[in-house]
Amino acid sequence: MSTTGKVIRCKAAIVWKPGGSFSIEEVEVAPPKAKEVRIKMVATALCGTEMKMLKDKNLQHQHYPIIMGHEGAGIVESVGEGVSTVKAGDKVIALFLPQCGECTSCLNSADNFCIKLKQAETHLMSDGTSRFTCKGKPVYHFGNTSTFSEYTVMDEISVAKIDAAAPLEKVFLVSCGFSTGYGGAINTAKVTPGSTCAVFGLGGVGLSVIMGCKAAGATRIIAVDINKDKFEKAKEVGATECINPQDYEKPIQEVLFDLTGDGVDFSFEVIGNPETVAGKAEMVPLNWFLIIWQRRL
Ligand code: NAD
Ligand code: ZN
Repeated sequence: MSTTGKVIRCKAAIVWKPGGSFSIEEVEVAPPKAKEVRIKMVATALCGTEMKMLKDKNLQHQHYPIIMGHEGAGIVESVGEGVSTVKAGDKVIALFLPQCGECTSCLNSADNFCIKLKQAETHLMSDGTSRFTCKGKPVYHFGNTSTFSEYTVMDEISVAKIDAAAPLEKVFLVSCGFSTGYGGAINTAKVTPGSTCAVFGLGGVGLSVIMGCKAAGATRIIAVDINKDKFEKAKEVGATECINPQDYEKPIQEVLFDLTGDGVDFSFEVIGNPETVAGKAEMVPLNWFLIIWQRRL
């Protein structure tokens, strides 16, 4: 039975208050309006950014109750009037940074901060309303995406069609973590062949930075994390060595200096801790600092 044009009841993870945790609830998801797309989510993940937001009770810009989630992939269930880039049945990934394709940012090849991103701050769709309700209350959207719901509604400009053969449970990482890390190494830092890189933090983004460094031809990639369980995966994706700062008496920058003789060419902070960079910068024999978390929200 077709669900097009009808309200869909499904499960979603709702956060009811600042600093709260997820609560699995039944929600109603309204049909998409003009230039909107309703998607059956197949795969989604919890990005480090959302973990920080969840723990922060002082996030004044947040609205509650809210359905979070911005890293995900799914299949288009139905589309609103005027949607031309996707149709029901297409595989898509969510774009936390929309691409309207018309604003000065979208038309600038060196930028990707579409001005329509502003709308995400309202936590509502562009007509100022929500497509979600739970227990009779409207529920706020997150990042124009709200992937922590079995069905979600996004603006057409927040959705990218992908190859029909793409495995959704793998490519959903392209939605945020992979493109941030890989793009950080290739496009932002422009890692050079033969270089030595250090990557601090081996979550989804850090592992993607390692892949980017490897693809760019770095010959030495030193992965740094306080959780040694991350080392196996880091080596699998290209780290040439892994170190845990807690195994050393010396500060980590001195350890890196000893290991390399003259410091590294590129250093990536992918923990999300400003102190890794701030204050210590002048002591650290690294030629590059790339703060990829800084461009978030
Ligand atoms: P994650 O939590 O999965 O990974 C962080 C890693 O850092 C973990 O492996 C942890 O063990 C390690 N770590 C923690 N403290 C450490 C320390 N003192 N020294 C060394 N390692 C330490 O996070 P993630 O999803 O990979 O995201 C990483 C950061 O990137 C977050 O701050 C997130 O907000 C940011 N982020 C930015 C963008 C963007 O700019 N577009 C996108 C995604 C994530
Ligand atoms: Zn734009």
